Amino acid sequence: MNQENDTIIDVTRKPRKCPHCGGKVLPITFGEPSAELCEKAERREVILGGCCIILDGPDYQCVDCGTQFRIIIEYRNPDDVFNRKKK
Ligand SMILES: [Zn+2]
Repeated sequence: MNQENDTIIDVTRKPRKCPHCGGKVLPITFGEPSAELCEKAERREVILGGCCIILDGPDYQCVDCGTQFRIIIEYRNPDDVFNRKKK
């Protein structure tokens, strides 16, 4: 399994560092980059994801191994919360 470069890991919040290699995890920005964003990309503060906004695309990427992370929103069922409170 050598799929490191297109692995997307679902996370609920931004990982501090890559779980695989411990590398720096940077936010990926989509859309046409502004001059400011280009500068940030050069300083390796962000990763430019390209002009196309990908639905369900990754939100963060490891600069070292390329592992990508996608923020998933935890949908809470209101009934679950209610039931938990009752216990
Ligand atoms: Zn990594």
